[in-house]
Amino acid sequence: MRLRNIPGSREAIAASRFCIDEPEKLSGRWREHFGNDNPLHIEIGMGKGRFIMDNARLHPDVNYVGIEKYSSVLLRAVQKLEEEPLDNVAFIRMEAEYVEDVFAGGEVDRIYLNFSDPWPKERNAKRRLPSREFLRRYAHMLSEGGRVEFKTDNRDLFDFAVAEAELEGWSMPVVTHDLHADPVLNEGNVMTEYEERFSALGNPICKYVILPHEDRVSGS
Ligand code: SAH
Repeated sequence: MRLRNIPGSREAIAASRFCIDEPEKLSGRWREHFGNDNPLHIEIGMGKGRFIMDNARLHPDVNYVGIEKYSSVLLRAVQKLEEEPLDNVAFIRMEAEYVEDVFAGGEVDRIYLNFSDPWPKERNAKRRLPSREFLRRYAHMLSEGGRVEFKTDNRDLFDFAVAEAELEGWSMPVVTHDLHADPVLNEGNVMTEYEERFSALGNPICKYVILPHEDRVSGS
């Protein structure tokens, strides 16, 4: 994501009713926040928020929370949402590493990772959002039957992600190296900004859907 420091972006974000100021306070209380019992889907590293807003429009019976670390990027999402308010969307400006402080055990039904930063140097592997370190955080946050869905055009990152999920014992009902060429998997696919950009260049899009292994819940 290209970064420009946009003056006033933090203030604009703080002023928006769609941005959660102290998200830790909503841990375990997200359904209360949205005022219903609908499923909770989150996108980590949402960028300008198009994917989440398109989904929110298509699925008014699902609550969506978008997480983005840069205020200059998040600002674009906030502006779009202020223009077209959607009651089932909230945004958080935060570093994903602390995501477990914001969502209680079993509170999240789906986690989307789209075109996550590759962090190509090996010493940064644990910063990659589909790394084993992050998968352990996700496993704790996910509800029974909850899943992670990951899309990228970066084959190295995807191969890494598949290997990490295997290592952690997650089941993988969906793995494709060319999503757009698979009519079944591609049906109803909601494109992200990066997906549109990179598939237009001819890059195939990889996707997986994974679920934590079943004995993760303590006491069961
Ligand atoms: N999901 C969007 C944007 C992809 S670019 C799309 O597919 O179009 C990746 C985005 O993730 C960037 O906006 C980046 O700032 C954000 N990001 C990367 N690492 C993050 C982290 N650790 N915590 C929060 N956001 C992160």
